[in-house]
Amino acid sequence: MKLIMLGPPGSGKGTQAAMLKDKLGIPAISTGSILRSEIAAGTDIGLKADGYISRGELVPDDIILDIIERRFKQPDCEKGYILDGFPRTIAQAQALKERAEIDAVVVLNIRDDVIIKRMSGRRICKKCDAAYHIESKPTKKEGVCDLCDGAIYIRADDVPETVKNRLDTYHKLTEPLLDFYNDKLRKVENYNGIDAVFNDILETLGV
Ligand code: AMP
Repeated sequence: MKLIMLGPPGSGKGTQAAMLKDKLGIPAISTGSILRSEIAAGTDIGLKADGYISRGELVPDDIILDIIERRFKQPDCEKGYILDGFPRTIAQAQALKERAEIDAVVVLNIRDDVIIKRMSGRRICKKCDAAYHIESKPTKKEGVCDLCDGAIYIRADDVPETVKNRLDTYHKLTEPLLDFYNDKLRKVENYNGIDAVFNDILETLGV
């Protein structure tokens, strides 16, 4: 199965993609997560992407398509994948269409004011990029990732001013994808807690 998770930053795409990955046995591919490891490793791609990310802007399409191209070649993608944070522009969606037939696009609906509140409590693992929240999904041990014992930090682009830019960018450049994928959309309301939302996603996908 080939899925896209679509929704504004902070809508829970990454959390739900990780749960779907375990359920469906296919990889969850997060372009944001790949970019953060490129930045941490100080690669050329990381150096190019860093400024865009910290300003809350999109990284240019050619860099993203290069990352995706390489990731799709890995053998774990053969049975399908869950795309989290890609595509984010019409140009990316068109490029993806030439490479793959997507089965469904899960849209996580959530209001901007709820996102802004949620983002202030978001925490990320420095080592494996797993996402937590101080209220809805705290780590078992404070400051330490449940999965890999990595250190927990606040993403630089989760500060309120950058979150606002990321939301504006979403509405302007990514929301048009709702029309692009019109016939594949599976809309899920995202206000009811992580497990309830997950069940709604499974139901709408029929898995
Ligand atoms: P995310 O972890 O998905 O919230 O992504 C973090 C940041 O990485 C975004 O705000 C963008 O700056 C960049 N990014 C991630 N995926 C893409 C993409 N598909 N196209 C452009 N920029 C992206």
